[in-house]
Amino acid sequence: MSAVQPLIDQIWKPEPVAPAVPLAIRTNLVGMDRAEMAAAFAEMGLPAFRMKQVWNWVYHRGVTDFEAMTNIAKELRGRLAENFRIARPTVVTEQKSTDGTIKWLLRFEDGNEVETVFIPEEDRGTLCVSSQVGCTLTCKFCHTGTQRWVRNLGPAEIVGQVMLARDKLGEWPASMEGRNFTNIVMMGMGEPLYNYDNVAKALKIIMDGEGVALSRRKITLSTAGVVPAMQKCGEELGVNLAVSLHAVTDEVRDVIVPLNRKYKIAELIQACRDYPGASNARRITFEYVMLKGVNDSDQDAHALVKLLEGIPAKMNLIPFNPWPGSPYECSSNTRIDRFSKILMEAGYASPVRKTRGQDILAACGQLKSASEKMKKSERPE
Ligand code: SAH
Repeated sequence: MSAVQPLIDQIWKPEPVAPAVPLAIRTNLVGMDRAEMAAAFAEMGLPAFRMKQVWNWVYHRGVTDFEAMTNIAKELRGRLAENFRIARPTVVTEQKSTDGTIKWLLRFEDGNEVETVFIPEEDRGTLCVSSQVGCTLTCKFCHTGTQRWVRNLGPAEIVGQVMLARDKLGEWPASMEGRNFTNIVMMGMGEPLYNYDNVAKALKIIMDGEGVALSRRKITLSTAGVVPAMQKCGEELGVNLAVSLHAVTDEVRDVIVPLNRKYKIAELIQACRDYPGASNARRITFEYVMLKGVNDSDQDAHALVKLLEGIPAKMNLIPFNPWPGSPYECSSNTRIDRFSKILMEAGYASPVRKTRGQDILAACGQLKSASEKMKKSERPE
């Protein structure tokens, strides 16, 4: 490891990416918030109620063709289609795990790609959404961290992942009872709090009661600890917070989560104490990856309990998911059991996260754009 790791902000520069597909001229309605859609409709001389109708068709019913908008006259449907489109990211590959997890590799209009994962469980179905192409954080145990950061995703690309999953699951309109897709975790590729504005805009669209209508209680944003953005996230969005803690000393965390060199554990824990809306009913989740011989001793477990004292917290131990060339090993089952027992004795219930989708490299920390690992010629059409 180099002695001087460049500071995150210094590497925070996008490299230009040549568009693979020319950008369409018609504006995509997906990704527009109410104010933008209202302005676009006003510009066409259309009354506000038209925007509301279209909002409902696009975000609540998930239609992609203006011809399906049956409460809008044919002539106006034509005008809308001339000015707008209702686009999704393109699916490059879809992989299904033996446990039912589905991973999509999605391509955007400039040719960049991310992965989105749907994880069905008995009582819920969770979509793991990406916020960036690549990541700046270079966490040592994370596969995405080995891929260089390319760019932030825009609101349309974040909302687009959600809409695409609903399309694939056949779950429009969004609000009907008995939906499999019930929750969102911002835990895919990227650091959502380093793309705060776009993530916030996207989540507000997703939370709109007359649209996709997923409540903030069903949405969890996971951060490696971008301390200055945490307060705002709680105040403006009020979503559940998950924090990728992974170590109890700055010495260890500096190495495995290099962002810690900028925001130390004490600062991060204080930001958690101050997180708006956290309560015993809405606890902060602390994620902790189990790395053999690195952070998994009894002493670490006891220190963890002490560190979180007084915070309304849930623990989430993640067995390390290996990836080709990964520099760590997962702690043994007996070690994980022992570690979790210490947490349970301190009052944390069932803290080990079940690994899902490992056979298709869809588990935590295994996501990486296939553009880097699979040649075009090897991909299924
Ligand atoms: N940047 C955000 C979002 C990524 S979330 C964050 O750091 O929270 C993905 C979660 O999986 C994080 O807790 C991450 O630290 C964890 N993770 C990454 N690589 C992993 C791996 N190989 N095995 C298990 N968990 C991993």
